[in-house]
Amino acid sequence: MICLNDDLVIFDYKDYKNNFDIVEFDLNKSFNTGNYAIAIDFRNDLKYSIKCIKKLISLKKSNIDFCTDFKDYKVKYVISNYNDSILDALKAIEIEDLKEKYTFIYDSVFKQLNDIWSKKNYCNFCNNKCIATRMHKNIDQLDGCCYSFKMNNKLFSTKLIKDKCKCKFLGDDKRCTTQNISCKLFTCNYLKKTESFDIKLKDFLLIMAFFNSKQRLILKYNYFYSKEEIIDKLLEKSKIPLALYYYYDYYRI
Ligand code: SF4
Ligand code: SF4
Repeated sequence: MICLNDDLVIFDYKDYKNNFDIVEFDLNKSFNTGNYAIAIDFRNDLKYSIKCIKKLISLKKSNIDFCTDFKDYKVKYVISNYNDSILDALKAIEIEDLKEKYTFIYDSVFKQLNDIWSKKNYCNFCNNKCIATRMHKNIDQLDGCCYSFKMNNKLFSTKLIKDKCKCKFLGDDKRCTTQNISCKLFTCNYLKKTESFDIKLKDFLLIMAFFNSKQRLILKYNYFYSKEEIIDKLLEKSKIPLALYYYYDYYRI
């Protein structure tokens, strides 16, 4: 049994012995408020799982409440073929406060990203120079890509970036002092080509199920800012059409 929050629990299908009422989940089925738990087979399928979580989010938004009593518990779901991201998605649905919800999701995705990066020493620092820097011997830069810069939008300038300097979040111990999700999602061309190592937003269930296209741009392209600044940006509401939002860089903090 897994706790969803202080009130609700989830059962693993293996532990379900017909001891309370369940309704089988179906993407095309409509659900009403009632005393039942929803049984969902997530099929170990990312795309299908994202659709399921989106449907559960819309039920919550429509105030459709369901759960059933079993012993001292209130059971909301009976699930199979799930993973940690799905459990965190089900927990996030129950968080009412939007900032708290986004912080929970951000932390969960950041942990996943840390796990991905810790599988291998991709950047392979040696004397403070990363592998990409060492392989391009004309560049003599320490501390990898932890340099902040601004995009140069001056007409007729040949320089794409300006104001390049060491990122203010880089600590004396060479560790990042914030949790910037855009930096964690970034892989340089060297790693893409030589290691075939790339990280894509579409592989993250929580990002695809909870955030819209504008929020995904915010998550992807706000290097050199703090976790708190990125979460505040995610909370902004924008009615600007996506194409203009993208074109005018409104997704940048
Ligand atoms: S991502 Fe690439 S450029 Fe950045 S530190 Fe790692 S190897 Fe260096
Ligand atoms: S915010 Fe990004 S660029 Fe700055 S220190 Fe952290 S990882 Fe490096």
